[in-house]
Amino acid sequence: MRQFNVVVLGAGGVGKSALTVRFVRDVFVENYDPTIEEQYHRPLTVDGELSSLEVLDTAGAEQFTSLNELSTALQSGRGFVLVFSLTQEASLKEVESLRKQIFRIKGSENVPIVVVGTKSDLVSEREVPATTIESLASRWNLPFYETSAKRNWHINEVFEDLLRQMRVR
Ligand code: GDP
Ligand code: MG
Repeated sequence: MRQFNVVVLGAGGVGKSALTVRFVRDVFVENYDPTIEEQYHRPLTVDGELSSLEVLDTAGAEQFTSLNELSTALQSGRGFVLVFSLTQEASLKEVESLRKQIFRIKGSENVPIVVVGTKSDLVSEREVPATTIESLASRWNLPFYETSAKRNWHINEVFEDLLRQMRVR
């Protein structure tokens, strides 16, 4: 069975851990320690082929006290889930910066990446309109997903898309 390392990145509080734990354990964690960095494992079958995902849930960009630590985390990843919150437009800035740093560290723009807007269930708190997402998706040429870890909306699709990208690159 092939194994792939995935790194989940994004600003603090956007829902990286809720997304990861929903995918790996199928539960919603209401209160997750923001400082915890944890590696999870989950088998995933896509297109009839079973693979093993090693998912590193980072504690957010703020945890990386030196550029060196960030580089190490980025180098360990074959694929990346870049997370922002649909309820916090400013969290897109972190995604933009992480995207650039990944390309720099990998020395290529041919890197498996999926961008995730979380908390889609919080409709009345939404700050990021669909038009913003459409224009970023075409400018960056990356797949975007709108998810809810609370309601379990579109979580598996994120990792299935990433696994398909990792298999061919
Ligand atoms: P992290 O710092 O990026 O790992 O963020 P967490 O996963 O710890 O989530 C931060 C807060 O947002 C927690 O209180 C979560 O329960 C909440 N949260 C995360 N995902 C969702 C979601 O899909 N819907 C709702 N309503 N809240 C969420
Ligand atoms: Mg977390």
